[in-house]
Amino acid sequence: MADLHTDIRFLKGIGEKKALLFHKLGIFTLGDCLEYFPRDYEDRSHILPIREGPVGENCCVRALVGSDPTTRLIRRGLTVTKLRAFDESGSMELTFFNQPYVKDQLRQGQEYVFYGRMGGNLLRKQMTNPEFEPAGKGAITGRILPVYRLTGGLSRKALLGAMGQALDCTAQMGDRLTDEFRAQHRLCPLRDAYENIHFPQDAQALAAARRRVIFEEFFTFACGLQLMQEQDRYSPGVSLQWYDPQAFYRLLPFAPTGAQRRAVDQAFADLCSGRRMNRLIQGDVGSGKTLVAAACLWLAAKNGKQAALMAPTELLAVQHHQSLAPLLEQCGFSCGLLTGSTPKKQRQTLCDALAAGALPLVVGTHALLEQQVQFDRLALTITDEQHRFGVRQRQILAGKADQVHTLVMSATPIPRTLALLLYGDMAVSILDELPPGRKPVPTYAVDSRYRARLDAFLLKQVAAGGQAYIVCPLIETEEGAADERQSAVTYAQKLQQRLPQLRIGLMHGRLKAGEKDRVMASFAQGELDVLVSTTVIEVGVNVPRATLMIVEDADRFGLSQLHQLRGRVGRGTLQSYCVLVSDSQNEKTRRRLQVMTQCSDGFRIAEEDLKLRGPGDFFGDRQHGLPQFKVADLSNDIELLQEAQQAAKDLLAQDPGLLQHAPLRQRVEQLFARAQQ
Ligand code: ADP
Ligand code: MG
Repeated sequence: MADLHTDIRFLKGIGEKKALLFHKLGIFTLGDCLEYFPRDYEDRSHILPIREGPVGENCCVRALVGSDPTTRLIRRGLTVTKLRAFDESGSMELTFFNQPYVKDQLRQGQEYVFYGRMGGNLLRKQMTNPEFEPAGKGAITGRILPVYRLTGGLSRKALLGAMGQALDCTAQMGDRLTDEFRAQHRLCPLRDAYENIHFPQDAQALAAARRRVIFEEFFTFACGLQLMQEQDRYSPGVSLQWYDPQAFYRLLPFAPTGAQRRAVDQAFADLCSGRRMNRLIQGDVGSGKTLVAAACLWLAAKNGKQAALMAPTELLAVQHHQSLAPLLEQCGFSCGLLTGSTPKKQRQTLCDALAAGALPLVVGTHALLEQQVQFDRLALTITDEQHRFGVRQRQILAGKADQVHTLVMSATPIPRTLALLLYGDMAVSILDELPPGRKPVPTYAVDSRYRARLDAFLLKQVAAGGQAYIVCPLIETEEGAADERQSAVTYAQKLQQRLPQLRIGLMHGRLKAGEKDRVMASFAQGELDVLVSTTVIEVGVNVPRATLMIVEDADRFGLSQLHQLRGRVGRGTLQSYCVLVSDSQNEKTRRRLQVMTQCSDGFRIAEEDLKLRGPGDFFGDRQHGLPQFKVADLSNDIELLQEAQQAAKDLLAQDPGLLQHAPLRQRVEQLFARAQQ
């Protein structure tokens, strides 16, 4: 007797070879099969009279075959089989290309249901290559049929066959959710859900099934995140002694904002609690996240411990090092720099110092993750612009020692509705206050007819002592890969031809690290007027004299990303501007860009982005290490998400380790284990 653990290989009609195709889809057992949800459905439930079959659309008709099919060879390798079929309302012609065998399947005088695109016109109906079955059979017509993602060599029929057997097993299966819980959240029983998500009785049953499956996806997910947070809450962390951050603030050339102080206080409380910190600092561009990181580095060093700060790009690591090292040096804490381009010998010296505990602090890039980098008493790791890293990478860094605290910083404001989902496993501090004296950055959305005026504006800014960034979009190459370098290179050349008096620099992801630094340094020192760049400058870079941000083909970017880019200017005392260039005529696109011109609050922009573009952009940020949803769609199912999150919270409050809910716990563990592979 098969059950859900039964290996797909042992099913009727599936051998070793076919099993491999199932494996390609991630299906190894009957249980996997059940969880292999349709990507879409074809509504074949309405059977129409031929006359009412809408021309140009798919439909089912039930008709009598009026003539024996005739097959003709049109040319080599192409046969046409034709016949006529009729019902009370009229008749239609059926044409099959290269399917001579239908001759044996369709008999004159018998009734069949045909499914296909109705062609011809109102008077002469016809269908080409319809699917069909004898009337009354109801296997592929007269119902809503699932559409699965398949793979070469594996037919829908084969998958449906396995699915049928999988569904047979659900009889023995208990529901993972109690009756009471289901009643509370209006969820249908598990069996009904599986039945109807694969073979819907009708649209209503399908909706109920989807609701249950989606709810459970969210619920399992939310339980997992909360369990993770729970575990952190009980796992010990290096205990630091508290020092008054005032002593650190006195080193700064400015007074911290209230929000910065709050975040520092929260982080210090974590660090001194004896439990492991897992905290996210979320703040808009320019809100001063670095200061919070610096204070934590300071506290770690003050305690005689080590701490590491990891940034996603070499540029940013260098910049952090430049600003942090002198600051911390004042207290006698030296801070090393480790990036991909640190020379071998220097790297060795640095690693030796870290391993011996002689160097308390280090700032670096991914290079910090390497095996070679070991610490003597690491207490804290900080990841800047964490959305550029995967969870895995953060874990590697945190795994360099026991009981290490983690602080991550993100400049992508996440809409509240998604924050819990994405960061439900972390404590969050929000920097919702910009340092004083920041002027808003007027933002304009224009099309390329403004080119001449834009050039003039650019010259004017430069003449007034400002500098400009121009961000080029991705362009698609023939292979479909995005080649940003090429677009930046050509753009810079053209600009130089138009405006020969400008000193133009070029920056893209494929420059060598040393080269990037050189370009960035000369821009920062004012030796360049314009930096034509790909989005590599998006993250964290600070050039106070940059006053103009031009984004070409701005419609290609998400609003949050545009907001990030805009955050590169307006960092000094000079008035700054942002110009978004787009020739898109699309109404929705224009509206999106308008949001940018009217709003400077990253959180609000993120909410708009979510509304207008769906959650993909935010999810992109954290796709590694988090489970993917199979059915749930965050653009449509946000309300269900909130309900599921609340339910998870309530359940975990009653049963913190899910000890009384073993099956659920097991499901959670599976879900997250798979995601981290
Ligand atoms: P982000 O949150 O985008 O990482 P940064 O930490 O890079 O922001 O800070 C942006 C700029 O603001 C830096 O030049 C920093 O020195 C400055 N800054 C940070 N905090 C304050 C403050 N409280 N008062 C004035 N300037 C500040
Ligand atoms: Mg930053």
